[in-house]
Amino acid sequence: MKDITKMPRLFIQNILSLGKTIALTKEQSHYIRNVLRLTMGDFIRVFNGKDGEFLSSLTKSDKMCEITVQNLLKPQTISKGPWLFFSPIKKDRLSFLIEKAVELGVQKLIPVITERTIVRTFNIEKAHLSIIEASEQCERLDVPEILPFITLKDIFKTLKEPQRLYFCKERSDAPPLRSLSISPDSGILIGPEGGFADTEIAFLESSPQTQAVSLGDRILRAETAAIYALSQISS
Ligand code: SAM
Repeated sequence: MKDITKMPRLFIQNILSLGKTIALTKEQSHYIRNVLRLTMGDFIRVFNGKDGEFLSSLTKSDKMCEITVQNLLKPQTISKGPWLFFSPIKKDRLSFLIEKAVELGVQKLIPVITERTIVRTFNIEKAHLSIIEASEQCERLDVPEILPFITLKDIFKTLKEPQRLYFCKERSDAPPLRSLSISPDSGILIGPEGGFADTEIAFLESSPQTQAVSLGDRILRAETAAIYALSQISS
């Protein structure tokens, strides 16, 4: 058998169990047949975020392909990654942020509108597809969730007690994030390009759930700040 790690990996919505035959979507069928040029009997790894990762083989190669689930490769594990609260940024940089956040183990992505947020809308459905693609690529067994936009005031309603919120505060004497021992499922908040307004900082710091943290002396762009913070938590 070929090297398993070289086999394509697909996220499937269906329940996965041994021997089950599953129809792929039109897009997945196109990818398997026309992009990867797989043929009958070729192997594909599949996962659905609930049942683990399975080896399957292509048992119908058509406009709508089918696979048959063969054996379990990895049992499902429960992931406990950070929740990233972020102020949306422009398209390419946002796609980069989302892809890297998934690779670094984020569990939920929550776009937050703040006073100085410039990008106030983006296609959540498209972002979800990028999240699936990144999860397939980095061999996660789960697919992080992206929530609809919230306002800064809703952050504490979204967090689950006793989850803490680590608020990345530039130009401050807050303790460095790397010096703290923090729970892997904590909330991390990254502000907009223009920074937080003073009233927003006061609001965030008035909550006992919040801890301001520094990411160092340099002022990082929002996507760098997010990646840096997440990598410190995942390490
Ligand atoms: N316009 C702001 C300024 O000049 O002070 C900079 C905002 S920065 C581009 C965007 C966000 O990244 C900030 O709101 C903060 O959450 C985070 N960030 C960037 N550098 C940081 C640092 N050194 N420490 C903590 N947070 C940082």
